[in-house]
Amino acid sequence: MADKYMELVNTGMTKKLAKLLGLPRPPRLRRYGETTPLLPGPVLVLGSSARAQELSDTLMGWDLDVRRHDAGDAKLGGLVLLLDELTHPEQLSPLMLAAGAALRKLVPGARVVSISRPALDTDAPALAAVRQGIDGAMRSLGREMRGGATANGIVLTEGTDLLSPGTLGALRFFFSGRSAYVDGQFLTVRSTDGELPADFHKPLAGKVAVVTGAARGIGASIARTLARDGAQLVVVDMPAAGEALAAVANQIGATTLQLDVTAKDAAQQIMDHAIGRHGSLDIVVHNAGITRDKLLANMDAARWDSVIAVNIASQLRMNEAFLAAKLPGLRVVSLASTSGIAGNRGQTNYAASKGGVIGMVRSSAKLFAEQGGSIAAVAPGFIETEMTAKIPLGTRTVARMVLPSLMQGGLPQDVAEAISFLSSDAAAGLNGQVLRVCGQSLVGA
Ligand code: NAD
Repeated sequence: MADKYMELVNTGMTKKLAKLLGLPRPPRLRRYGETTPLLPGPVLVLGSSARAQELSDTLMGWDLDVRRHDAGDAKLGGLVLLLDELTHPEQLSPLMLAAGAALRKLVPGARVVSISRPALDTDAPALAAVRQGIDGAMRSLGREMRGGATANGIVLTEGTDLLSPGTLGALRFFFSGRSAYVDGQFLTVRSTDGELPADFHKPLAGKVAVVTGAARGIGASIARTLARDGAQLVVVDMPAAGEALAAVANQIGATTLQLDVTAKDAAQQIMDHAIGRHGSLDIVVHNAGITRDKLLANMDAARWDSVIAVNIASQLRMNEAFLAAKLPGLRVVSLASTSGIAGNRGQTNYAASKGGVIGMVRSSAKLFAEQGGSIAAVAPGFIETEMTAKIPLGTRTVARMVLPSLMQGGLPQDVAEAISFLSSDAAAGLNGQVLRVCGQSLVGA
């Protein structure tokens, strides 16, 4: 349905009609393909920071046509705003206005990325003001973008800079079609850890990855995407989903493990299988999840307890076991949800579990880092799956088109791309990250 609508409002006579009637016209998003260019046109780098020239040289090494300060008449595929050295809100004007002029030259599917520093409680007021102001400005800019273009930001904490692996990894992710449904979001570079891949199209080469709940939906897409990116996969799901699980495994040369993630020995079974069959365990994606929606006034213990058991308690137990086993360099990525950030009617149990995932990820970051590993979460918004297909058509259409600034639901692949990036060595410096993949849905603001 979404595709049909998008087709009609974006082609031929019906496009003209839709324009005339002022109907919302969700843009076609630029998604990743191995042969599609990293950006759909030249990139303009505005602003001056320490190492700006080295950054431009690096971008040229990515086969990008890089312009500094002024793009002339060129149409642009990307815009980088270097804002990390500003110290007062009054200094924003020249750069933001230059960015505004450049926006008119952006082609569909273009990317705007700011690079700034975090506002800290210990900063001088003017410094904190400009830094927090950038956050507000970029989120607003995300809502002004057209044609499937997006605006996101990278925040550099102390000790990191433009050339840190996490900065370059995040920049490449935001440029690429991998971030098609990520808009108005920030990635924070917390350390200089990490390493860029030898081949950007195979960032997970040589890794063994486990994905739970992989028989269908987002989990199946994550498994396919991690395999495409070079990983050897173990796909996990309930015994009842065995047939669908085997079908996914066959497509990508994975091994299967039929397992209820709430089992007390789930982590041990995963480690035994991955290490026994594939020689190591490098990546775990906690994707298995359920909803049992009810208003709290009508909630029963079975609904509440099952959601907590599957969505968060199982992950806490498994992570504890993985940490105790001291698996070197383990990268864990969990599925949160925008419901866990903004709340959602009928989902007190689900939101408690998904808010729980966010709390767990933030507090576990240092524990995984001590073993050379990392942990992160992705919080999807409205994603087109069997789960969301059950929402009544009217509500679904509104949720798809009106709320998110990209005017459409995301695809499982969009969530999978973010997970693949966060589970790669390039993202090690982004440890503890919670990234929303929501098309800048208003949910969660
Ligand atoms: P889905 O229901 O289509 O798939 C979930 C899979 O997990 C199923 O294959 C199921 O058999 C498996 N599973 C459930 N309980 C399990 C258990 N105890 N042990 C092992 N496997 C189990 O769901 P989906 O839409 O693909 O969602 C995947 C994840 O993304 C979930 O964590 C969900 O909360 C999250 N999420 C989804 C959306 C969305 O819009 N679809 C939005 C935000 C977050």
